[in-house]
Amino acid sequence: MAAMDSTTEQGPWLGQCLCGAVRYQADSIRPAVAHCHCSMCRKFHGAAFATYGVTPQQDFRWLSGEILLGRYRAANGTIRQFCRNCGSSLTFAASGCQGEVVEFALGTLETPLQQQPDAHIYTDYKADWCEITDGLPCFSEGRDG
Ligand SMILES: [Zn+2]
Ligand SMILES: [Zn+2]
Repeated sequence: MAAMDSTTEQGPWLGQCLCGAVRYQADSIRPAVAHCHCSMCRKFHGAAFATYGVTPQQDFRWLSGEILLGRYRAANGTIRQFCRNCGSSLTFAASGCQGEVVEFALGTLETPLQQQPDAHIYTDYKADWCEITDGLPCFSEGRDG
């Protein structure tokens, strides 16, 4: 079952923060990968949007530097983790997430990934200076909203 909702590409995928102290491994990545334009993702990344890979908790582990992880819990209950040494954005957890999945910032991957993002989400909140030209489906809020 886990194999069915995961990509057919073979992991593991390895990633690390900018300074290299925090490293992680993801053994699978779910097929749905979206660019999120919400203001919180924009600020957390300091960028036009954030792109997260989603993996079941049991397929994700920290390889080093876990002690350096900073944790920011926003007013809406979402929790983001980052490297306290270099500031790299690393993970996102939705409010109420019981840890069943880990969403990690794809920009920190070191391993090549063939899989392509398939949507833009929260585009009602996108930066004015960011023009979406790749033809992917756009959702004003989340995929379900
Ligand atoms: Zn770092
Ligand atoms: Zn977002």
